[in-house]
Amino acid sequence: MSTIVRNKHWINRLPHIYEIDDLIAFCRKNKRIYIYGRGEAQEWLLRFLDMCGVVSVEGYVVSYDPSESNFCYRKLPVKLIDDIINQPDVGIVLALCDRYHGEIIPMFRDKGFENWISLTEHTRLGIAEQMAPRNKDEMTFEISLADHCNLSCQMCDHFSQLSDPWFVDVEQFKKDIRRMAEIYDHEIGAISLLGGEPTLHPHLNELIEYVREQFPETELILLTNGVLLTNLENSSQGNLWEILKKNHVHVTVTVYPIKLDYIAIEKKAAEYGVSLKLSSDIHAVEATKQTKISDKHAMDLEGKVPKEHCVHCLYFNKFNVVKDGRYYMCPVQAHINIFNNRFKKNLEYAESDYLDIYEVNDWHEFAEFGSKWVPFCRFCDQKNWKHDSNWKPSTKSIKEYV
Ligand code: SF4
Ligand code: SF4
Repeated sequence: MSTIVRNKHWINRLPHIYEIDDLIAFCRKNKRIYIYGRGEAQEWLLRFLDMCGVVSVEGYVVSYDPSESNFCYRKLPVKLIDDIINQPDVGIVLALCDRYHGEIIPMFRDKGFENWISLTEHTRLGIAEQMAPRNKDEMTFEISLADHCNLSCQMCDHFSQLSDPWFVDVEQFKKDIRRMAEIYDHEIGAISLLGGEPTLHPHLNELIEYVREQFPETELILLTNGVLLTNLENSSQGNLWEILKKNHVHVTVTVYPIKLDYIAIEKKAAEYGVSLKLSSDIHAVEATKQTKISDKHAMDLEGKVPKEHCVHCLYFNKFNVVKDGRYYMCPVQAHINIFNNRFKKNLEYAESDYLDIYEVNDWHEFAEFGSKWVPFCRFCDQKNWKHDSNWKPSTKSIKEYV
């Protein structure tokens, strides 16, 4: 079990991509790589280097106690620094807390050893968080109730502005939720119901009640643009707000610069005692009502992105998706058929890009799967994922993604 401590939203730190590039270049240059330090974070760094496949790490180095017990990932020899520092072709990745640099870097200088690289604390911990399989209470999955949307935002990461109308089939949804409940013994960190726009689904209330029945204690989130929320007090399905209250659903509304009475939504939530977060950045630790900025999720249509860049991805080891009996790494991958259909492209995923939820034995398989590169990651141009511009309606052009 990992003892990595993630923040309260369970979103991992994202390692700096320039440091990842420097690290991989260093490993390519040196035939015999050692990792300085012998704790859990160093083991997740080893797992990262194993995953990248550019180097076979020879072992760990330590200053004092070369004991070889308590490995959580993979056993490797542990050497004293004095035994390897003068050997040929050795390169050392300094992966200890910054506070130890004050001893180790002067020691390297005293000994005339120059073949080392260090990582910032942010990247060191970011790699560990991205590579450590999650514990059950940190796990979450999302499920789309409607792939299409009643807004049309540029650069939507679920491609919803490009989607034909698509609603999740009620029976398939219930079957998949039942199966996930069986796998997780009815308890997981959080489940997000979203889309596209989930409130468009004609059986929204029934779907919410079913998830709550199967996962009585789990944090249940409805992620919506809020456009229909106040109207759904009087829907033909019944009063959505009563369902939200009864089933302890947290409502997260993304705030856009559109004509929508957000104060009325806040009042309605207060009236029914429903937990509500209004924010222009749903990933921010604190809710923000600043101008909505669109993030560009650039795609490499040739699929040539190096493996190591996946650890820079916000979705990696976090935003797993359940759709039609499959468990996907992320929404970009799970909804790529919409992109392909719209732009006549062929960004394909392989069988190793997803798990069949009816074939896995337990939730550890999801945790392992979510913390490893999948072939589809080669299409995600992480170097060019960035805050792009103020929110705008979509032009529905491929330029929003390349
Ligand atoms: S509201 Fe959300 S799901 Fe709908 S188009 Fe905008 S970003 Fe996509
Ligand atoms: S497929 Fe793309 S979006 Fe999904 S985890 Fe990999 S890099 Fe990130």
